[in-house]
Amino acid sequence: MKKLSVKNSDALFEAISASRALYLPIEKAGKVDFYPWSKDEKVRLDALQTTRSAKDLFFPQSECFAKFKLDKNAISVDPVAPADEKFVVFGVRACDARSFELLDKVFLADPVDVMYQTRRANGTIVTLACAEPEETCFCMNFGIDASAPGGDARATFVGGSMILEALTEKGEKLLDEVSTALEDASKDDEKALADEKERIAGILKKLPFSSLPLDNIKKQDELEAVQWWKWGELSQGCLGCGTCTFVCPTCQCYDIRDFDTGHGINRFRCWDSCMFWEFTQAAGHNPRLTQMERFRQRFMHKLVYFPKNNGGDFSCVGCGRCVRKCPSALNIVKVIKELGGSDNE
Ligand code: SF4
Ligand code: SF4
Repeated sequence: MKKLSVKNSDALFEAISASRALYLPIEKAGKVDFYPWSKDEKVRLDALQTTRSAKDLFFPQSECFAKFKLDKNAISVDPVAPADEKFVVFGVRACDARSFELLDKVFLADPVDVMYQTRRANGTIVTLACAEPEETCFCMNFGIDASAPGGDARATFVGGSMILEALTEKGEKLLDEVSTALEDASKDDEKALADEKERIAGILKKLPFSSLPLDNIKKQDELEAVQWWKWGELSQGCLGCGTCTFVCPTCQCYDIRDFDTGHGINRFRCWDSCMFWEFTQAAGHNPRLTQMERFRQRFMHKLVYFPKNNGGDFSCVGCGRCVRKCPSALNIVKVIKELGGSDNE
């Protein structure tokens, strides 16, 4: 276990960025998101959550993966591989760290998504314990401990220090590489860390959404859940804007689009949203005609279909982003409460 004084954080960031790219929660134009670090940036490790999740660094919103050129009668195809660069993302919260386990189930299953796989292999995730979880957080329902997040290494603020623990080989390697910026943690530091975890656990227990009826949802009949009469009421006001899917760390749907550069075709993969009317539309056929059906699909996938096909794991980590960002105040917590509660009888 290592530590450094919080006021010396820049020394740590400098040591990390000497050998690889470093991404941190940085404030720009009043919003905090993961950006490349430099000394002039406004680092916001105190911000509980970035607007967008760290998913963007492993599964970008848009990326070109092939280029086509027509030369007389021959077509050439050049695959575009993601940059083979090592990087560290520092300050990932517990919920977002868990999202990678869920994304791995999708992108690293056969057939493996090589773009995601390359970034996962090159990326080291340093998590940050949540000192002050907020009322919209409900990660604890998914077995996530915000006081002791996963990742490759974990940071926790204790007093004026940051305690660092390696959790994987990658994490150990990173802490070894930057050891000159760190000192060994003492027994007193270990005790202070344990006390801090206990303090955070106390806050988590008292949060309003700390006990949601997810077990009841697991027991439900799938067809009855689809036919549930409340979907119409719950989806009232949904604008189909897709904000909930774009801020979600576990949403992984994408579309393939071609762009004519005038000199050839660039083929892109871009995020898509099940909330959009043209989602999965093929040959003019639209599988979900109403916004209610699209809304239902999002939650059936997260709460019923995904767990059924992935050993019981829900496709939600309780980050609360969709709860905070929906312009119509629709939210997954309400759906879980109603779908798992007595109203669904
Ligand atoms: S649930 Fe909210 S955020 Fe999601 S598409 Fe509907 S209006 Fe937009
Ligand atoms: S569904 Fe909402 S609360 Fe769950 S992981 Fe996605 S954005 Fe976070």
